[in-house]
Amino acid sequence: HLTGKTALVTGSTSGIGLGIAERLAAAGANILLNGFGDAGAALAEVGRHGGKVAHHPADMSSPEAIAEMIAYAEHEFGGVDILVNNAGIQHVAPVEAFPVERWDAIIAINLSAVFHTTRLALPGMRRRGWGRIVNIASAHGMVGSEQKAAYVAAKHGVVGLTKVVALETAREPITCNAICPGWVLTPLVQKQIDDRIAAGTPAEQARHDLLAEKQPSLEFVTPEQLGELALFLCGEGAAQVRGAAWNVDGGWLAR
Ligand code: NAD
Repeated sequence: HLTGKTALVTGSTSGIGLGIAERLAAAGANILLNGFGDAGAALAEVGRHGGKVAHHPADMSSPEAIAEMIAYAEHEFGGVDILVNNAGIQHVAPVEAFPVERWDAIIAINLSAVFHTTRLALPGMRRRGWGRIVNIASAHGMVGSEQKAAYVAAKHGVVGLTKVVALETAREPITCNAICPGWVLTPLVQKQIDDRIAAGTPAEQARHDLLAEKQPSLEFVTPEQLGELALFLCGEGAAQVRGAAWNVDGGWLAR
């Protein structure tokens, strides 16, 4: 049901972003991918659904690069109808030892980029009279964890920004919502499992411990499951879902 619509999914060369891009493409959307690394595999995977697909390498820590990407989307695709703000990074350290440069990078990529893409994409959505903004926040947009000062601050910020944009678009056919995943087994989380393995925990135990600390289901959320929710939020059934922060977290926030 998304035929003729264009979705920009930031950070979609791997992990959750790629899963969401795939699902929206399968529903008929044209897709502008973004992210680092070799985009070839993602382009092929998303392209097999038959819609138009391209990749823009904008660095989400650069407001100038973000502006170039939105201009490219307007020029090449006729605009951004669906904006999925997904690009994100993590760094784990106690607050007093948190590298200042990592703090700045996480705030820029995980929070400020959402402000920049939103402010730049919204005028086009208004002109065309339809829009969906889906922000990939986190369970860490609702609660904290030790050693994740920048990430938790940024994700709480994303949930707040989502509410403001939802209010500012409340009387328009444009919605803005956040998805708050628990643990998803992507490179971002594998790194945290690897840190436990490096500290001496056997691999299977490291995976189990990471889940057991936070996620009562003891199962990872999948990019495919998040793709299904993103697709729902893009549909007419979700036209009055506005400013929500929807957890998909195996029960993380229930306790
Ligand atoms: P990932 O590392 O697999 O993918 C991150 C993507 O962002 C990649 O495509 C990468 O190239 C891109 N990226 C990183 N820095 C970028 C930059 N400066 N400019 C442009 N692109 C950049 O991570 P993931 O787990 O799929 O995470 C995606 C989002 O989901 C993030 O916002 C993350 O915070 C959030 N999230 C992840 C989990 C999880 O358990 N994996 C849980 C909750 C929320």
